[in-house]
Amino acid sequence: MHMKSVRIFTRTIQTWVPTYPIHLPILHQILQNCAKEKLPKKGMACHGCIIQYALADDTLTSNILINMYSKCGFLDYARKVFDETPERSLVSWNTMIGAYTQNGNEREALDLFVHMQRDGTEFSEFTLSGVLCACAAEFAVFECRQLHAFAVKTSMLGNMFVGTALLDVYAKCSLLEDAIRVFEYMPERSVVTWSTMVAGYVKNELYEEALLIFRKIQVTGVEFTQFIISSVLAACAAIGSKIEGIQAHAVLFKTGFTLNFFVCSSLVDMYSKCGSINEAYLVFSFAEDKDVVLLNAMISGFSRHGRSMEAMMLFEKMQQIGLQPNEVTYVSVLSACGHMGLVKEGKKYFDMMVKEHNISPNVFHYSCMVDVLGRTGLIDEAKSMIDKMPFVATASIWGSLLSSCRVHGNVELAEIAAKHLFEIEPDNAGNHILLSNIYAANRQWDDVIQARKLLKETEVKKERGQSWIQIKDKVHAFMVGDGNHDRIGEIYSRLEDLLEEMRKLGYRCETQHDLHNVEDNQKEELLRHHSERLALVFGLMCLPSSVPIRIMKNLRICGDCHVFMKLASKITGREIVVRDTNRFHHFRNGFCSCAEFW
Ligand code: ZN
Ligand code: ZN
Repeated sequence: MHMKSVRIFTRTIQTWVPTYPIHLPILHQILQNCAKEKLPKKGMACHGCIIQYALADDTLTSNILINMYSKCGFLDYARKVFDETPERSLVSWNTMIGAYTQNGNEREALDLFVHMQRDGTEFSEFTLSGVLCACAAEFAVFECRQLHAFAVKTSMLGNMFVGTALLDVYAKCSLLEDAIRVFEYMPERSVVTWSTMVAGYVKNELYEEALLIFRKIQVTGVEFTQFIISSVLAACAAIGSKIEGIQAHAVLFKTGFTLNFFVCSSLVDMYSKCGSINEAYLVFSFAEDKDVVLLNAMISGFSRHGRSMEAMMLFEKMQQIGLQPNEVTYVSVLSACGHMGLVKEGKKYFDMMVKEHNISPNVFHYSCMVDVLGRTGLIDEAKSMIDKMPFVATASIWGSLLSSCRVHGNVELAEIAAKHLFEIEPDNAGNHILLSNIYAANRQWDDVIQARKLLKETEVKKERGQSWIQIKDKVHAFMVGDGNHDRIGEIYSRLEDLLEEMRKLGYRCETQHDLHNVEDNQKEELLRHHSERLALVFGLMCLPSSVPIRIMKNLRICGDCHVFMKLASKITGREIVVRDTNRFHHFRNGFCSCAEFW
């Protein structure tokens, strides 16, 4: 034993010298208890006792000691005991490998495994799954493939722990096809296997597939865990699938789980991203305990829905109940200020973040501030914020400045912002078009022609606009000028009727909003058939009048569609919710929740 540690042991032992004969099994029990309760001092005293009474050299005792030290976070001591164990059985190696993995020293775990093989010790399923856990954390694909081959060679692949661990590594390393292959091959699967698979899909942004597994689990009768449900809720949030989100919520209810912070935050996030901010708030207010993550989810929900007042009130309340806002909280409140153009408040929070909560602003905080300033017309101030910040400005920061320049007609700074954008994202046609629109609004026709020419030359491709609407359990997708839907004839004729009524209210197409580089009459044609309009009309046809119409869109809603939706909400008396890449728009009775800041 190391001199220093012996000294510690003997010092500690003074407080606990047994006066009766020592039985090793009793010491084992105490050590296991120390591991469970994380009592390193008592554990060391016990170890001291073992040394003093020379009970030290059996393998079982060593293993128990390694486990105790590792659970208490004393890895060096654990390794020392391991190195000094005269006869290492398999369990010693497994325990030590597990100790490294649990304490975040995955590299050491992998090294020890190599050492073990050189030593000629045979390994078991537990060794293999332990080392695989280390691979998952280290993203060690090469080692993982070797271990996979080992597993095949030693016929351990059918083992549930090995299979699940292997699946986890592949999913974490974004090798999803390999993960699926392992999953399909497994003769039996545990709850952990299923939950690893769902989490793997979500991590790799394959949300539909994650929901498919969710349905499979429901059919096969596998037990649900909160972890599975959280992953499912994350998938629903990402693709705005409220119906499945509600199903997952119902499963939680049925299984009678007490909702922890984690699940509550997932629920709040799901409802808010599916456009149901009121339901999100309901879940939030029923949560008995509230932590920072849950509050952040709610604040960011309010902000996304343009309910800045509520976002700011919750921010105040958070501090009243003694919780400290973190970086994420500040991104949410600052973007709440941006959405509503609250410049005074934005500046106040930016200051407060640095001075009161000692958080140094990151690129997202700066991005929010550029937004807050730009939207309110303080474009010069926004530009000097970009110049001052200690990061290289991202495309979204320059994009936000360019949009502000469009709204406030600042050609000079628009050109600067556009120049940066052309460099950062040369393939994004939107930037060229936005700039040419700014010239057009300013009647600089020569520059318009120049910008259009540049656009043609770069042959930039624009992501095609697409919108989704969920009717019952089916998601319907629409593209601009779409002719594919099986009820498209009816959709177009209803759309014409709606446009006719709008024209009576004085609506006319503003072709300058359109991003297609085509002739004017054709432009109007395409603009009239932007995908969100088709989705809306289809929603009007299929959904009962009491239900809000929720639409998702893969691009930012254009100005003309924004006017269109406002009028549609007025004419039809329906509530319309559009989630675009930037935020939610709640249209009700001719008004939008964003108050024209978007
Ligand atoms: Zn549009
Ligand atoms: Zn809006």
